[in-house]
Amino acid sequence: MQTELTEEQCRDLLQRELAGELPDAHGRFGPYGGRYAPETLVPALERLEAGIREHLNSADYQAELGAELREWVGRPTALTHARGLSARWGADVWFKREDLAHTGAHKINNALGQALLARRLGAKRVIAETGAGQHGVATAAACARVGIPCIVYMGEVDVARQAPNVDRMYQLGAEVVPVTGGDRTLRAAIDEAFRDWVADPEGSYYLLGSAVGPHPYPYLVRELQSVIGREARAQMLELAGGLPDAAFACVGGGSNAIGLFYPLLGDAGTALFGVEAGGRGPGLGDNSATLATGTPGVLHGSYSVLLHDRDGQIQETHSVSAGLDYPGVGPEHSLLKAIGRVEYISATDEEALEALRECCSSEGILSAIESAHAFVGARRWARDNPGKRILIGLSGRGDKDMPTLSKVLPRPAGAQ
Ligand SMILES: *Cc1c(COP(=O)(O)O)cnc(C)c1O
Repeated sequence: MQTELTEEQCRDLLQRELAGELPDAHGRFGPYGGRYAPETLVPALERLEAGIREHLNSADYQAELGAELREWVGRPTALTHARGLSARWGADVWFKREDLAHTGAHKINNALGQALLARRLGAKRVIAETGAGQHGVATAAACARVGIPCIVYMGEVDVARQAPNVDRMYQLGAEVVPVTGGDRTLRAAIDEAFRDWVADPEGSYYLLGSAVGPHPYPYLVRELQSVIGREARAQMLELAGGLPDAAFACVGGGSNAIGLFYPLLGDAGTALFGVEAGGRGPGLGDNSATLATGTPGVLHGSYSVLLHDRDGQIQETHSVSAGLDYPGVGPEHSLLKAIGRVEYISATDEEALEALRECCSSEGILSAIESAHAFVGARRWARDNPGKRILIGLSGRGDKDMPTLSKVLPRPAGAQ
């Protein structure tokens, strides 16, 4: 497949992206995206596409979603002036606080929006998969609120290492199904969830957790997460005195980043940066820096950039943050990189942990390790571009990371 774009094609694709014309009728973002799904799944995806067309932009659905985002999720989330970091970095730094959203991260925006859609489509149950458990918790909460039974597939390795999130899902009324086949982690869980959906495509709704997967998921997730960027853009104008010169977000599958970036794409004066997990370093299997080091291919139903070897085998990945530890990335990010509208960089485990600590002590905010990757990118840029206005997507809170943090950032000597 041809992925090298001419200058003219890049200009044309940017124009269409800004006009809201992407994905196109085939679910493509330029060369990326599409629907590479088994025959058996296609009717379910087509039904979902028709359901989105009917409901997503209807006044009725939007009113219901808006009310729930306000009353239950706690939106709009705050825009916080990071005064301590501004002084330290010689910049004007602002945080969009998704850590303050219900269940502690941006994932609830998507889970709630899709659960409300599932109910409108007449689904009797919701299926989801989860790796670290954050998407499972958000989905369990949203399904409880909306009143639909929820089944979460999770690799048995992850069930063992993410016990607190498994308990949260049970408390919220979800059923957690440990997956014993395949790699017994996220990839096997995704396969199992798809299998379940194929068996009952009319009664079940498959609630995907990031801006990845076959069309129409990348589109649906972007639409539901764009509330982050719409709010942040208006808040910057109102509170910060203008649009940011640069905006940063961490990128796993890419949902919080596309949510922040999409409403800012047309602001040519705002440089956009996605920050991936550089892990232990650039070696094979040591990171999850998909866009920085990957090549195009098909994973989980969509054509995008991914980490695989010449034989098409998906590479092992590593990141200290479970939420960024994924060998693929959403197809819209692959396009935004190809046409040069967003730049993708990476931050190592060590840099992210150090930045997390700096944010804790300067701002009194314990962020997720995922979000701290964005701080690293912003700090680096601030060094080369003094005195600029910077917006950072703070995707989630760090409470879930305490077991990791207490291991790698031990208490000071002498503390009990
Ligand atoms: C899941 C997660 C991410 C990564 O997912 P995206 O789809 O790339 O946004 C980032 N931050 C937090 C706090 C998460 O829970």
